[in-house]
Order: sequence, then structure tokens, then C-alpha cells
Amino acid sequence: MATSDCIFCKIVEGEIPSTKVYEDEHAIAFQDLYPAAPVHILVIPKKHIASLDAATKEDQERLGHLLLTVQRVAREQGLDQKGYRVVNNMGDDGGQTVHHIHFHLLGGRSLTWPPG
Ligand code: AMP
Ligand code: ZN
Repeated sequence: MATSDCIFCKIVEGEIPSTKVYEDEHAIAFQDLYPAAPVHILVIPKKHIASLDAATKEDQERLGHLLLTVQRVAREQGLDQKGYRVVNNMGDDGGQTVHHIHFHLLGGRSLTWPPG
């Protein structure tokens, strides 16, 4: 998918509104529009990477930074004591609907396992 068709690239550019909770040079985090838990935040790279499968060796540092950004936001949300879940959906069977890589940060309640 071209970057210009990507809703998360538009959120990065500020062309679509979002409720941002964190931003730095390489990543942003914002509230999921349809929260599945009391805390449901999406953490994405500013660079368009379509999915985990589309990531390359060149993205290694960026992906490491992204995961540490999830950790940071989780602490800021007060989730680190009780715990939280980090999810990446990849492709159709994984349930990916937005083709710009993102981690879901879910918490604020006891989450069940396995997922559906
Ligand atoms: P996934 O199904 O893993 O690709 O996750 C996409 C997520 O993006 C879903 O949880 C949606 O609720 C969320 N979402 C879609 N559009 C927006 C938007 N404009 N702002 C915030 N979250 C969104
Ligand atoms: Zn994108």
C-alpha cells in the first residue's frame, strides 16, 4: 500500500486527528479509536513499514526503539506493576486491518488467554 493511502501515515503527518500520548523523532503513540481494554494505545514508527513481515534488517534499530517506546508508554500509563499485553497482528489470519506496522498496548484489566 502506498504511504499516501495509509491512515497511520496520515496520523503521523497530522492530516487525520488522533489523541497522541507520546511522540519522538521516530515513533508516536495514540489512543485506539475502538478501545478493547481500559488502556488501548497504538505505538507506531513514523516510517511506513507495512507489517512485521515487511520489516528488514535496516529496521532493526527502529523496531527495538518501538518496543522500548511501548515499555515507556506502559510505565507512563501506570501499567508496569500489574502488567499489560503487547500485540502485533500480521496479515489476514493475524487480523491486521491497518497496513502500517503497530503494536497494541492493552491493559487496565485482567486479560484473558488465548485470544480468539
Ligand atoms: P489491526 O487490526 O491490528 O491492524 O489494528 C488496527 C487498529 O487501529 C484497530 O484496533 C482500530 O481500532 C485502530 N484504528 C483504526 N483507525 C484508527 C484511527 N483513525 N485512530 C485510532 N485508531 C484507529
Ligand atoms: Zn503508513
